Order: sequence, then C-alpha cells, then structure tokens
Amino acid sequence: MVTLIWAGIVFVDESATPQSHFGVCVEDNRIIATGKYHELHARYPNAQIVGSEKFLLAPTFVNSHDHGRALNTLSLGVTDDLLEIWLLKLSSLPIIDPYLAAAYDGLRLLRSGVGTVAHSHNPRSWQNMEAEAIATLKGYRDAGIRAAFHPPIVDQNPLVYGDAKQFLATLPADKKPLAKQFMAPVPLARQDYFGLCTDLVKTYHDTEQFMCHIQVSPAGGQWCSDELILEAVDFARRYQTRLQMHLLETSYQRQYAYRQWGKSFVQHLDEIGALGEWLTCAHMVWVDEDDLSLLAERKVGIAHNPSSNLRLRSGMAPIAKMVNAGVVLGIGLDGHSLDNDQDYLREMRLALTLSNQPGANALTVTAPTIWQMGTTGGAKITLGKNVPLGKLVPNHLADLVLIDWSAVQDAAIPELYGEMTPTVEILLRQATRHHVKHVMVNGKWVVWDGKSKTLAENMLIAALREELAKQDKQKLLQTANNAEIVANYLRRFYGQWD
Ligand SMILES: [Zn+2]
Repeated sequence: MVTLIWAGIVFVDESATPQSHFGVCVEDNRIIATGKYHELHARYPNAQIVGSEKFLLAPTFVNSHDHGRALNTLSLGVTDDLLEIWLLKLSSLPIIDPYLAAAYDGLRLLRSGVGTVAHSHNPRSWQNMEAEAIATLKGYRDAGIRAAFHPPIVDQNPLVYGDAKQFLATLPADKKPLAKQFMAPVPLARQDYFGLCTDLVKTYHDTEQFMCHIQVSPAGGQWCSDELILEAVDFARRYQTRLQMHLLETSYQRQYAYRQWGKSFVQHLDEIGALGEWLTCAHMVWVDEDDLSLLAERKVGIAHNPSSNLRLRSGMAPIAKMVNAGVVLGIGLDGHSLDNDQDYLREMRLALTLSNQPGANALTVTAPTIWQMGTTGGAKITLGKNVPLGKLVPNHLADLVLIDWSAVQDAAIPELYGEMTPTVEILLRQATRHHVKHVMVNGKWVVWDGKSKTLAENMLIAALREELAKQDKQKLLQTANNAEIVANYLRRFYGQWD
C-alpha cells in the first residue's frame, strides 16, 4: 500500500528551499519516491492520497535534548531560578509514573511536529532504573515517537561543584544536616550502571527502524569523574551508540573546570580523550570561544536549549560562533520552553532570534541554518550521522509533518509571492504548534488534524491528575521548605564565585 503525501509547499531537505506542488510516496516505513505531485500521481495511480494546496510539508523535527517530565515544573510548584538552585528545588517534584510521563510527553511533542526525542532520564529511584527505562520506552512507543534514551549516572559533586566542606562551613550547625540530605551519593554503582546499559542495548537498541536508541549519559561534566566519563566513551564506541551529557550550562560550571584543572572543560575533556563524534553536549552556554574549532574538529555535537537557558538564568549560547566554527548543532526543548508548551516551532523562532546578536560585525545566522538544526543537524547529534532522517528523499524513514501554511500566512499577502517569499523565515517567525495538522512517524500517522491517533489524550490527563491526587503533599511541602532553606546558603555560596 503506497500513500502519496503532497502539499502546496514542500521543504525536502535542510536547505528549506520551497518546492511547489511536490509530494512524497511512502510504503511501509520508508519514502520510496519524491517528485512533482501530478507526476507521482501518474506513477502511483492507486496510491492513497493525503495533502492539500494549503499545506506545507516538511520532515518532522528532532528534539535533541529533553527529560520527558510530562508536566511542567512551574505548575508543580518549582519556580524558575538559577540552575543550581532550581535543581535543588526539583527535589519536591511529585513522582509521576514513568510510562504515563513518557506517553503524555511523547504525544505533546508529536502534536508539535517533533518525530524524535532525546530523553535524558530523571530517575524516580536509582535502584529501579531498569523498570523505569522499560516503562518510559513503552510510553514513547505507544505514543509513536522515536526516542533516544539516556539513563543517567553521576559519581561526584552532589549539590555543590568542588569542595563541599567549604559550602557546609557557611551553614550554621543546625542547618548542616538539612544540607547533607541533599548531598547523599547516588546509590548506583558504576558497574551496575553499565550492566543496565548493556541489558538495555541488547534488548531495545534498534538500528534498523531507529524507533528506540539506547545511549549512555554521564549526566554532567561536573557531576562525573574522568573515569566514569571515559568508561561511558568506551561503552558508546563499543556498542556504536552515543553519549549525551549536560556541559557548561552555567558560568559556575565553567569556573569549576578552571578551579579544578586550570583549563577549560573542553580542553580537559580533550586531554582525557573524551571528545569525539560519539558525544553530544547539551547547553554549552559558557563554552570558551577558543574551543569551538576543536569541538568542530572532534565532531562533537551540541544540543542548543535556548528557552531553558533563559529561564534558568544561564544565558545565551554563542550560536553564531558555533555555526561559524562548523560545529554540528541540534535544538532541544529541555522540558522548559518559554511558554511551558513544548512548542518546537516557537523554540526554533527563539533560536533564530537570539542567535542574531547586535552590531554590524556580528555574524548572521539564517533561518535555513536554524531549520537545519531542527532537522538533519538534530538527527545527526541525536541518533548519529548514518540515520536516514531529517529529509524527504527516497530511502529515508517516513517521518513528516503537514503544517497549515494558509493559517500561518498573513491573509492580506497573496498565497505565493513567488521567489520573493522567504518561506522558511516566515514559517519560523509565524508558525506555532497549533498549525501542525498531520504527523507521520515511521510510515504511520500518529497525529491527525492536530489530535493524537495513538493515545487518548483525555485519558492520559485523567491518569496524570490521579497521580497528582495520590501524592503525599505534606511531605513534598516539607521537602520544598527544606530545599528553600538550603537554597539561600547555596545562592550566597555561588555569589562569592562571581
Ligand atoms: Zn537537561
């Protein structure tokens, strides 16, 4: 059975050059042919036809870094703050069933035009991570979204970067036990972690259809010893998978590296042999500009998270300079988009806007460059360079989105103003998730007319409400109060680093 999907405007590849009245033919989970609509129609007269003049057809987007939280942290009582303080405050988040969280998050992302998500897992219980991983993967699978799964591991610096004794010395005696509660080492031994990753790779790592990718994740530079990072590199290379870590999200993380080694994080990681095409770093707001060409040379990917970087007061990543240096970039929502709505189109809009800094000498980042980050760049840094995703070309996986272009456009301007219409820029400037109509992933329609075809959204919302109703609110409030007390000292502590 062949399906012919067509639209008035089609972006075939990362150049985002608009093709008019173009279509793609899909059989099973692959694109088998592309071309002008009437030609394809003649070639495949029995194909089922989906499309319209008023649509814009494009590859689905890749969310290169996220956490699958389902519910936004603000609604759950955790207000935005400095990353270091915010992470402490996350301790009062309710525990949501991992299946439910992934299913709901996956569904929302699909409705936003995202076909692939990189899920950086936040364990409910470190000892029970295998069951959580299996439930999370099932949630994404049932939603119908591709997922790269990152089970995390950390082995140093809980709560503060560097000497914890120095921090504890700033607390009065009666508050020290409170702080120590948040400094307990993670109860997961390194060998158990890699054992878990091995089991997950053997059972779930899918290098044919790429619906599920198991990767390793020393969660962040400052939270992981060199030995741990190197073992993760070794694992990624041995199993031909990838490694994703948070890196240089805040200025304090940058300072930590200089305090620790007298050099930048990137220089240190290069010296120990951690940099390579297997690695994707999320954030990188505080990367030294001198290190960008080295990152490009080592083929390290960067997941850019503009909303999250603003909301958690981390700053703005030097995207134009990264692009100029030849670094491969993707874009991630980090579960923390500006409007709390997992809107990928709006995230690309923010990335485009913030990348272009003031001044005649500033480098320009174009709309097609941002489009490339959202599609082929994202696919590369999320699933690897050989994954056939991010373009609408024969033999690629059939992942596509139909956007209501007629609703995106300004009604007063003629539909097609010919070559004068900067189509991709208009799309990135004006489209939102509400314009996403139909989404196909792996040859299957997963969103139709803006609604999930795989899961009943109202049932998931009802189940999430039930989850929230059964929380021990008293206990969570107590944890929130304790975190708030420690946060005051933490803020003062890092204030002295400025
Ligand atoms: Zn993150």
